[in-house]
Amino acid sequence: MGIKQIGETIIAPRHRASCHCGAVVLELELPDGIERPIRCDCSLCRRKGAIMGAIPVSRLHVLQGQEVLRLYQFHSHTAKHYFCSVCGVYTHHQRRSDPNECGFNIGCLEGVNPFELGEVPVANGTHHPSDR
Ligand SMILES: [Zn+2]
Repeated sequence: MGIKQIGETIIAPRHRASCHCGAVVLELELPDGIERPIRCDCSLCRRKGAIMGAIPVSRLHVLQGQEVLRLYQFHSHTAKHYFCSVCGVYTHHQRRSDPNECGFNIGCLEGVNPFELGEVPVANGTHHPSDR
C-alpha cells in the first residue's frame, strides 16, 4: 500500500501533475497512493534533487504538452528522462532498471509539498544494478 495522504492533500485515484509553467499536464493513476518514494544519487538525480514516486508506464498519461516535453538520455541511453522545454522542470522518466515503470516528480503533483513526506530513502544510482 502506498502513501495516500501528504500533509493536507489526499492522493486522488487519478491525480494530476504539472510542470512549473503549466504547459505539461500529466494524469497519474494512483489507486494505491504513491508507491516507493525515493531520492537517487546518480549523476543526474544529484543535480535535480527531485523526490520520485513509481508508477507503471501504462498508468501515466500526458494530458497536455507532449510537444514541449524534451527527452534527455545519457550513459547507457536506456532510461528516458523527460522535462518541460519551457520551464525546465523534470516531470517523469521511464526507468532503466524496469522499462515498464516510470518514476515521476512528486513535487509536480497538484497540492503536494514533497517536504511533508519526511525522511525519504536514497536509491543507490551511483552503482546502478544494470552496471554490475
Ligand atoms: Zn513547464
